[in-house]
Amino acid sequence: MDLKGKTVVVTGSSRGIGFAIAKAFAAKGANIVINDILVPDEAINEIKAMGVGCIGVVADVSDFVQSEEIIKKAKEEFGSVDVLVNNAGITRDCLLLRMKEKDFDDVIRINLKGTFNMTKHASKVMLKQRRGAIINLSSVVGLMGNVGQLNYSASKAGVLGITKSAARELGGRGITCNAIAPGFIKTPMTDVLSDDVKSAMLAQIPLGRQGLPEDVAKVALFFAENDYITGQVVNCDGGMVMQ
Ligand code: NAP
Repeated sequence: MDLKGKTVVVTGSSRGIGFAIAKAFAAKGANIVINDILVPDEAINEIKAMGVGCIGVVADVSDFVQSEEIIKKAKEEFGSVDVLVNNAGITRDCLLLRMKEKDFDDVIRINLKGTFNMTKHASKVMLKQRRGAIINLSSVVGLMGNVGQLNYSASKAGVLGITKSAARELGGRGITCNAIAPGFIKTPMTDVLSDDVKSAMLAQIPLGRQGLPEDVAKVALFFAENDYITGQVVNCDGGMVMQ
């Protein structure tokens, strides 16, 4: 897909990987919808300064009605929804025996149900357009599991299931659906980890450095620009997981 003038919706994109993805698409000339629980004016202004349209939509992707509003506002403002990046996500890390029911439910509700909600609403518009690209943020943890992340790894493995099923259901109408599995990327989500955990993660990365949000954004662009790849997962992890 040629991204110039297209509409790109990125959830959870006021910071971190989502914001880097939003900027990467804006640099290709796409109009951007930033969604988050809070959308600071600075984020919108930074994208607008790149010469493209940008709106912010405050909404919780885990809420079915609010998530529909994101897609409605994107269509009202820019006339189409061409790319959806399901990026919003949370962690509530804890060992299984200490994990509260709420820690499990919150992570599944936002990471997995949020992806379902957004994919369902966006695909309605994309099916009519007979064009679209859906890109889901999974995680290497969804492939290999992780101590203290049972809830998170379950949600991210579920995102891969959504990706492959949506790819099969929507492919006939020219809509692709792919997933990115980032490893250990420098964002507010990982900044809070202890130095010991950070060192242990770095030791597992053959390329020897933590990833940057921009590394992940390049994979998102690759998926959106290539109309003949669907149902795939690309790890962006410095070699942490080799399949
Ligand atoms: P981040 O810095 O925490 O950013 C996530 C954004 O999503 C935050 O702004 C957050 O807002 C927002 N958000 C949370 N719940 C939401 C909801 N219900 N509706 C809308 N927005 C919501 O995280 P990140 O590191 O950039 O991660 C982005 C994605 O990549 C996530 O799906 C994450 O699981 C995945 N990922 C990250 C890594 C990594 O190493 N960083 C590795 C693998 C996968 P609040 O601040 O209000 O919570």
